Amino acid sequence: MQVINTIAQLQDILVSERAKGMSIGLVPTMGALHEGHASLVRKSVSENDITVVSIFLNPTQFNDPKDLERYPRTLESDCAILEECGAQIAFAPSVGEIYPEPDTRRFSYPPTDSVMEGARRPGHFNGVCQIVSKLFMITDPDRAYFGEKDYQQIAVIRRMVEDLKFRVDIIPCPVIREADGLAMSSRNTLLAPDEKAIAPNIYRILKESKSLGLTVSETREWVVCNINEIPGLEVEYYSIVDGDTLADIEDWSDSASVVGCITVYCGKTPIRLIDHIRYK
Ligand code: AMP
Repeated sequence: MQVINTIAQLQDILVSERAKGMSIGLVPTMGALHEGHASLVRKSVSENDITVVSIFLNPTQFNDPKDLERYPRTLESDCAILEECGAQIAFAPSVGEIYPEPDTRRFSYPPTDSVMEGARRPGHFNGVCQIVSKLFMITDPDRAYFGEKDYQQIAVIRRMVEDLKFRVDIIPCPVIREADGLAMSSRNTLLAPDEKAIAPNIYRILKESKSLGLTVSETREWVVCNINEIPGLEVEYYSIVDGDTLADIEDWSDSASVVGCITVYCGKTPIRLIDHIRYK
């Protein structure tokens, strides 16, 4: 596997591979890789001739500087994981390489980017669109792989691809979980052992909420109450939405695709955990 740090070097390689008829898969990441990322990389490797995994802690998508500061950085072990998954290229540019000038572009795709995480993390999805659009322009991939772990992110990126006419297939990949049900996340390494022990209750309660036979608003309330009853967990929001537009629904029959998206504060720091459940 080659580790590349500059755009020029990456483009030289990709232009020549494409001329040979090779297909290109892109997996954008912020590093601190785990089995969730590895599942995306393996899928890309199985579907493309060349898999490029970007490792870039994108500052423009962090609305909280403390979150950026404490984000884990593990480039060496990341490269070992990518090598083992069979990726051909790790692209690990510096911030100056990606943003030689401040990125002043503005993206707006409501309601996908204005509800839930978009409402609580101002500028977050704008930053996501800035980096993902740059990565698409740099690599011109045939396919790009994103985890459903960040359910809302995929909906926003689909809108951006439609808007800017990128010729790329967006491939959503299922959430990879720990054996206890906790969605794998780079931020999980920041959880103390007692916090890690209570965090799996989030998914357990989401799963239980599928079989209660309650209305949408009763289900929402039931989930929030049950999670908040657990000391150390506090729900920031729980939204039950149309799976494509992410607009709130009032009744189960309002949409053919219904998803519940949650953000929970865990522990004293606290660490913000996100998860979701598909109702239909
Ligand atoms: P991140 O490094 O957190 O930006 O994540 C990079 C990509 O990996 C995103 O598309 C995430 O949705 C995806 N990802 C992160 N955690 C998981 C997981 N547990 N299961 C599946 N995909 C994941």
